[in-house]
Amino acid sequence: MRYQTIQLHPSAPAKPDWGAACNGCGVCCTAEPCPPGAWLSRRWKGRCSALRWDENTLRYRCGLVVAPGAVLPWLPRAAGPLVRRLALRWIAAARGCDSAVELAPADAADVAAGGPGEPAPGGGSHQPS
Ligand code: SF4
Ligand code: SF4
Repeated sequence: MRYQTIQLHPSAPAKPDWGAACNGCGVCCTAEPCPPGAWLSRRWKGRCSALRWDENTLRYRCGLVVAPGAVLPWLPRAAGPLVRRLALRWIAAARGCDSAVELAPADAADVAAGGPGEPAPGGGSHQPS
């Protein structure tokens, strides 16, 4: 078993069971990026640089879906909808949680401090859309 420390927003929802509806907990994309996310982030471990926290819905979203122009600043504005459609297919949106990550309780010091907060953009197999 491999252990890894990840930081999540204190208001992020708890990770659901495998196969349940995705709730945007962000665990998968914080642990390791999907293939497109790995390309964007230039790494296979850790937080995906495309991951975005949505303060309105209190959940993580995939930046390729909600803000393709911000994730790919060189992208022509007209290509945004296409990237969004491709991203929804890549990340298998709406198919339920496919992350097998198991979470250990947060560190007591982090909990006392109100949680680790929102770390700098920095990684799952998929996919809060
Ligand atoms: S797919 Fe990712 S963001 Fe969605 S519920 Fe599972 S771990 Fe959380
Ligand atoms: S689904 Fe997650 S890991 Fe993949 S590109 Fe989007 S934010 Fe990154």
